[in-house]
Amino acid sequence: MRFYQATTFLFPRHYEWRILTVCFGAVHVPLIACVAFAALSGQWHPITLLVLLLATLAGTACGLAAVHGLLSPVTKATRMLESIQAGKRVTDIPIGGRDLVGQLLHGVTTAANESAARIEKLTDAAERDPLTRIRNRRGFLGTAERLLDGERSGVFALVDIDHFKLINDQLGHDRGDDLLTAFAARLSEGVRRTDLVARWGGEEFAVVFPDTDMNEAHRVMDRLRAAIAESTALGVGSRRVTFSCGLAPLSGFSSLGEATRAADTALYRAKAGGRNRVTLAA
Ligand code: GH3
Ligand code: MG
Ligand code: MG
Repeated sequence: MRFYQATTFLFPRHYEWRILTVCFGAVHVPLIACVAFAALSGQWHPITLLVLLLATLAGTACGLAAVHGLLSPVTKATRMLESIQAGKRVTDIPIGGRDLVGQLLHGVTTAANESAARIEKLTDAAERDPLTRIRNRRGFLGTAERLLDGERSGVFALVDIDHFKLINDQLGHDRGDDLLTAFAARLSEGVRRTDLVARWGGEEFAVVFPDTDMNEAHRVMDRLRAAIAESTALGVGSRRVTFSCGLAPLSGFSSLGEATRAADTALYRAKAGGRNRVTLAA
């Protein structure tokens, strides 16, 4: 480490250039010694010096190319660490030999991928609802921000299961949980892959339909409402489950707060109007 520290004045930000400079100097030692000897003794042999000079230049070129090649795994390991710091997984895994550099590459790859997997797990735990496995409100907001990037328009839907408390009260909390899980899966299946579904809280769910107008979102949600209301497939015996929904237009992520309030008001009107319906914001 001492030599390393002592040479940092040479290209402080370029380790490879420093090694190349040291090699360059070392390769020229015989040539310098010959020139010094010739100068001191006064015996100049121009042909010998020329041959030595050309051999030194050729040796320098080959040596620098070889050192550059040998240092490439270190450059690769540094790039891998940079991509991990940027939150990406390392997919292009370089394979080193059984030497020190091979051990370094293996160590960096393993450490990098393990920490990426740990970060993914933590992010997943923070952004997913543990019961239904769909996004929670935090995960929803993070994804919605990316989805509605630049003033992309769309529709926000607030969905609330009707009389859910009765299911808890009559069939038990566990059956209520089962219904929430089945409902989340059915809601996710009923919309497009590009739409964003999340558990908003309790028995309420939120959906963002990007690049969709109110009529189209209304058609999708009403078709889903009818399909769920007509089937008994949601796992609470022969009991039919219905939901109410409020829809509001979105014009970019910044309008989400306003759209949430408008959809909540529309949802309230759907409940007041008798439930099992989809209502548009005024
Ligand atoms: P409405 O048709 O007006 O929406 O009536 P509701 O009964 O669905 O609504 P209310 O808000 O009165 O009840 C929601 C219930 O959801 C109350 C709460 O105990 C229950 N709940 C909230 N989170 C969970 C959960 O994670 N699991 C279960 N089983 N129940 C939950
Ligand atoms: Mg509710
Ligand atoms: Mg409800």
